Amino acid sequence: ADHLVVVGASLAGLRAVEGARKTGFDGTITLIGAERHLPYDRPPLSKAYLEAENEPSAETPTFRNEQLLTGELGAELMLGEPATALDTDAKVVHVGDRPVAYDAMVIATGADAKTLPGAGQLDGVYTLRTLDDAVAVRAALDGGTRAVVIGGGFIGSEVASSASKRGLDVTVVEALPTPLSRAVGELMGATCASLHHRNGTTLRCGVGVDAIEGDGRVERVVLADGSTLPADLVVVGVGASPATGWLDGSGLRIDDGVVCDETLFTGADGVYAAGDVARWHNPMFDKLMRLEHWTSAADQGAVAAKNALAPDAAKPYSTVPYFWSDWYGSRIQFVGIADADEVVIVDGDLDTDGRVVALYRSGRRLVGALTINGQAVIMKYRGLIAKRASWDDALAFAEKRKAA
Ligand code: FAD
Repeated sequence: ADHLVVVGASLAGLRAVEGARKTGFDGTITLIGAERHLPYDRPPLSKAYLEAENEPSAETPTFRNEQLLTGELGAELMLGEPATALDTDAKVVHVGDRPVAYDAMVIATGADAKTLPGAGQLDGVYTLRTLDDAVAVRAALDGGTRAVVIGGGFIGSEVASSASKRGLDVTVVEALPTPLSRAVGELMGATCASLHHRNGTTLRCGVGVDAIEGDGRVERVVLADGSTLPADLVVVGVGASPATGWLDGSGLRIDDGVVCDETLFTGADGVYAAGDVARWHNPMFDKLMRLEHWTSAADQGAVAAKNALAPDAAKPYSTVPYFWSDWYGSRIQFVGIADADEVVIVDGDLDTDGRVVALYRSGRRLVGALTINGQAVIMKYRGLIAKRASWDDALAFAEKRKAA
């Protein structure tokens, strides 16, 4: 291959460029990105960026400067305009009316924040996915006193944590019985909920939002039970959908993401996918998964580029999913999958020592682990899951750690 084109200039896209150069590829690399920014890091946007005392512009979390990207990595940048179509027969990606030919391609267009019907019509209602979003949310936090966060997932809960740190009066509304129910299950979701309670954030679970109301500017959120929450600003954190609209008509299989085999191959000659947009066959759990986690997006970017440049030697990407989330100074970490027959807290107690270790069992196997402030052990459990450890072995390991 002479020309690698990477679509999506964020974490997975950057790692694709770096991964390609690491293999010794010295052909042309074009990096196409819809945002006008150089690739930057998203996790700080809902954490440090919102909390920082300094001017936000000073905190802009860019990964690499332009010299590094264009000089050392030798990437041609096409930033500020989205790719609009992909022709897999002609091997051309279109950016508006500009065609870009490729031999190898990595699709890394990530995901877009979902919103609620009508939410876009009022000032003071935000989603949080991009740096531009974060600038707007941060300004709103500086200017308001009552924040309502719709959705108690990672991003919603992190925004709540940051807003409360800035002294705002915060309410989180979550339609499910606990925050993070889908990601970590209800038992540990309830444990995470207590982080909100003990830090003074009001949490309203099991109730939906009927309307976001105001006159030009948001004034209140009306819940399905008839109650009303006054609001100076509303952040909608109800998840993200894979950015695949531009692939309509490409013939690629799209089903909650770009469907890939275990090597991240899409089925179209030379075309691989990586990161939040990719739904690939994860050999570790023998199922299709689409993760929205930093670590896998970074890993997949590198693997997809290597495989795209040497398809005959393509290697599978197999992983135990991992993510972290920071709430009120506590670090939540999760490895594996939350779909379990049983969840057991094996160590720690949030009330007495501010620490928890919980294990997830499916059949006779350990499939997941969650820690709050358990940085020292979480990767050990990731290793056990990767080794397909039995439940009994996992419990024995937990006992040993406790004794130590
Ligand atoms: P993205 O980062 O979504 O980037 C995709 C890029 O492609 C975007 O820049 C987009 O503009 C561009 N694009 C889209 N369509 C097109 C097109 N047609 N043409 C060209 N470009 C296009 N994960 C964790 O594990 N821990 C955390 O604590 C954590 N915190 C987070 C906090 C926030 C606020 C957010 C938003 C995410 C967080 N994540 C976290 C998730 C993590 O950031 C993502 O998994 C990661 O950014 C995915 O990288 P990506 O490159 O696949 O996609």
